[in-house]
Amino acid sequence: MVEPKECNFNDPLLLQCADLILPYLTPPELANISITCKSLFNISTSITLLRISDASRTFENLPIPFLNPTLDHHPYSYFLYTPSLTLASNLQRQFWGGTSVISRPSRPVLEPVSVVDEFGRKVWGCVCEDCGGSGSGLGSECGCLGLDGLGELGSECGPGCLCGPECVNRFTQNGVAVRLKIVRDRRKGWCLYADQFIRKGQFLFEYAGELLTTKEAQRRHQHYDELRSHGCFSSALLVVREHLPSGKACLRLNIDATRIGNVARFVNHSCDGGNLSTKLVRSSGVLLPRLCFYALKDIQEDEELTFSYGEIRKRADGLPCFCNSSSCFGILPSEDT
Ligand SMILES: [Zn+2]
Ligand SMILES: [Zn+2]
Ligand SMILES: [Zn+2]
Repeated sequence: MVEPKECNFNDPLLLQCADLILPYLTPPELANISITCKSLFNISTSITLLRISDASRTFENLPIPFLNPTLDHHPYSYFLYTPSLTLASNLQRQFWGGTSVISRPSRPVLEPVSVVDEFGRKVWGCVCEDCGGSGSGLGSECGCLGLDGLGELGSECGPGCLCGPECVNRFTQNGVAVRLKIVRDRRKGWCLYADQFIRKGQFLFEYAGELLTTKEAQRRHQHYDELRSHGCFSSALLVVREHLPSGKACLRLNIDATRIGNVARFVNHSCDGGNLSTKLVRSSGVLLPRLCFYALKDIQEDEELTFSYGEIRKRADGLPCFCNSSSCFGILPSEDT
């Protein structure tokens, strides 16, 4: 690295400005500005260290650090962070790694997007005083818990309920629930690891990103394929199909965490099914379910977190799989969207 020259960038006001602006820069921009003078080099270095210390930009309750034992030139992965699903966004820049006092971003509140479900029925939440049991309503169980008859669908209290965020039936609504770290692998790139013991059945995190229409998902899928054919590029566009009890209708969720997402974008595929399971969880008063990840078995500290992306391998020229399991197919699952 070229040592930047001394400069007369000593005006405290200018340095304060740099402190406010530099955290909005991308890694290439930051690298460019850091070679202009020593003061900016020092600020850039501290920003890089803060970014390495927390991928979540303080959106989550616990920091999620990057570790790179391969020592290649990837100190961290650059993407915009959202702790929950967001509509297709034109967010371009986001504060990350600054030392100036900008208050910790707060989690967006689950807004009721609709109070009518896919059958045209009004969706209402519960009216319990305490959804945990003892003091609830007329001695009956919380109605939100009882909605779980919909197959694979989980249900929780939400903005349609009278209870508040402290309700016990909102397990998946407070962001990442376990200690995690993101570790670089020479072949697989970034991988998500447990940084604590996780008990079987425990909730870990949801798959957050941009919620797309199917048309937009198809357009991006094509675009990502093109980028991939031109060199190394990895996308994180997930298509989830929810089969409704009627058996006919099928709700399709397209979540793209390529540009904006949370840590779930680092979960790699494993041909043996991995150690995570997924479930769609619906909150009372919210139309769309969220894709939540749970421990399929007990997970030890320092174990990589993986799940099966699917079974469909349409393309023989698919991306190579490095899952290392005895049942590895050699290529990653893919399907036409
Ligand atoms: Zn309730
Ligand atoms: Zn509740
Ligand atoms: Zn409820």
